[in-house]
Amino acid sequence: MRSVPPSPLAPPPAELPWAERAEALAAGFARQAAELDESAQLPEDNLRALHEAGFDTAWLPEEHGGAGLSWVTFGAVLTAIARACPSTATIWLMHLGAAYGLVHMSDEDNSRFFAGELAAGKRFANALSEPTGGNLFLMPLQVAEPADGGFVLSGAKRFVSGCEAADYLLVNALVDGVPAFFGITPDDTLKLVPIWDSMGLRATRSQLLTFDGTLLPAGRRCVRLTDEPNPIPVGLPFLSLGVAEAALEALRAHASGRVIPTTGQPLADMQWVQFAAATEHVKLRAATLLAGQTAWLADQRSPLANPSSLEAKLLANEVAKDVAALAVRVGGGSGYLRTSPIQRHFRDAQAGALMAYSSEVCQAEIGKALFAEEAR
Ligand SMILES: Cc1cc2nc3c(=O)[nH]c(=O)nc-3n(C[C@H](O)[C@H](O)[C@H](O)COP(=O)(O)OP(=O)(O)OC[C@H]3O[C@@H](n4cnc5c(N)ncnc54)[C@H](O)[C@@H]3O)c2cc1C
Repeated sequence: MRSVPPSPLAPPPAELPWAERAEALAAGFARQAAELDESAQLPEDNLRALHEAGFDTAWLPEEHGGAGLSWVTFGAVLTAIARACPSTATIWLMHLGAAYGLVHMSDEDNSRFFAGELAAGKRFANALSEPTGGNLFLMPLQVAEPADGGFVLSGAKRFVSGCEAADYLLVNALVDGVPAFFGITPDDTLKLVPIWDSMGLRATRSQLLTFDGTLLPAGRRCVRLTDEPNPIPVGLPFLSLGVAEAALEALRAHASGRVIPTTGQPLADMQWVQFAAATEHVKLRAATLLAGQTAWLADQRSPLANPSSLEAKLLANEVAKDVAALAVRVGGGSGYLRTSPIQRHFRDAQAGALMAYSSEVCQAEIGKALFAEEAR
């Protein structure tokens, strides 16, 4: 790896051992990534290793048994994991997003319960996206009807990353006309429809779940608003940055090793390759700084963290696709083969921009805010 220039947005010195431990784990994950992509199996060993190294609870406040680490360090850790195995990084991010959401939005008893279950190694997943809802995953269209002990939901949630291993699901539905969130234990009213044979992030196994009269217990309803950052909006840009870094590294390795017989020149010496790679390198540095600033805003508990996360996600998603597309050009026929990591990075790079909020939805929100400011 090239050395990274110092940045005020890097993990603080006291948290550096966490970032170093993540890099060490990621080196092992990278060795399995191609095989997991091929077999589309859940990376259960990787997820267990992250738990055993203390990463599951590290960003919870100390009052919930966590280490209260900074979100800037979270960005560095997630980038390292995504660079090695983006499926592992995606499932882990969704797991933390659901678990931390339940800890921060539940009443005191449930909050303690979910924090304890997370510390004990239980797994969480987000069952939020609906087949008809598309990108607006926080605005459910499916209605949960009042019933004994809570509300019942019949419908479907899709793209539930890691759901086959989940002990708890964060589920949303309309209750009395407003979105409501619940932490539920999957039971036999839930059925899995195995749709997941995807282009990229294959080991996330983001399946479709159907709900048939599933009880959403009133006692497990989220009742609090929170100012605590959620890992998902902070983390999504870093997922794409990890894929982009891996793609740029694969591009560099190929361009340095491949000598074009007709010119006797390595690809890396050709001006068009240098110009194009320089452009992508600088875009990647800019996207990394923007994602870092968003994480820093989350550390300050700034209300600007949320709008900034849309900007950071948009840039990181698009940079990942651009770097991976250049890697395919530079890779030529060799990069097109399944034996090359380049084709895998290209497939994985498409997912970030599709995941909510998609690049287009981010553009719509950022554009709207821009012109609203202008009007003021
Ligand atoms: C790998 C992966 C993992 C995922 N994991 C989870 C998970 O764990 N839990 C979960 O709940 N969900 C998950 N999702 C779902 C994800 O977050 C989105 O909700 C989902 O991908 C939206 O898909 P869709 O096909 O319905 O897209 P659509 O919303 O139908 O989008 C199709 C196109 O329309 C555009 N579009 C949609 N709305 C607008 C708009 N308002 N303005 C402009 N353009 C618009 C989009 O940009 C896109 O180009 C995952 C998705 C992927 C790909």
